[in-house]
Amino acid sequence: MNFNGNLNSVFTLAHEMGHSLHSYHSNRARDYHYADYRIFVAEVASTTAELLLHKYLMANCKDKNVRIYLLCHLADEIRGTVYRQTMFAEYEKMIHEKAEKGIPLTADELSNSYFELNKLYHGSSVAPDDKIRMEWARIPHFYYNFYVYKYATGFSAAIQLSEELYSGNAAASARYKQFLEAGDSKDVLDIMLDAGVDFRSGKPVKSCIKLFTELVNQLEKELFS
Ligand SMILES: [Zn+2]
Repeated sequence: MNFNGNLNSVFTLAHEMGHSLHSYHSNRARDYHYADYRIFVAEVASTTAELLLHKYLMANCKDKNVRIYLLCHLADEIRGTVYRQTMFAEYEKMIHEKAEKGIPLTADELSNSYFELNKLYHGSSVAPDDKIRMEWARIPHFYYNFYVYKYATGFSAAIQLSEELYSGNAAASARYKQFLEAGDSKDVLDIMLDAGVDFRSGKPVKSCIKLFTELVNQLEKELFS
């Protein structure tokens, strides 16, 4: 990685270390053909490591400005990873449905749909910039079979896992080690369930939204108290 010595670099290092630990344990525990984990779980270990770093820094940092920066950093991560990628997934679903109905996918059609969805997701308190309608054209993920929603699910799982791990719960640590070792040995939803994250319920996403609310409240307190 390019390490520039700033906080972003430290978060990137934690992120990539999460991937490395995941690959290391899966390769060690599984035969070659079951070692390579799927996209659905790929960003879980990396973002869990980032969130653990965030918790550590928040617990050990007394500087008000740095705390405000850290709170903004995480709130922005949730906005970009969970909220925005869900919007991307919905857009991808919309364009597939249009294609199935035989509607020609012209640039105008794609731009107009994108613009309307953006307005819907951001609400009346955000003034829409007209140029945003072209944004779909620069997102290569739209060619990869709903790749985008895995960011949202992965991050939601990481929020629950990092909370359990940071609290020092020994059973959660053992479950997490098993998760790192699981590779592609089972259905991804069952791998996550073994780790304690039930994606067949709405709980992971709800705990993510709860954390976002807490972050905004904490930020308000740090800024105005
Ligand atoms: Zn990653």
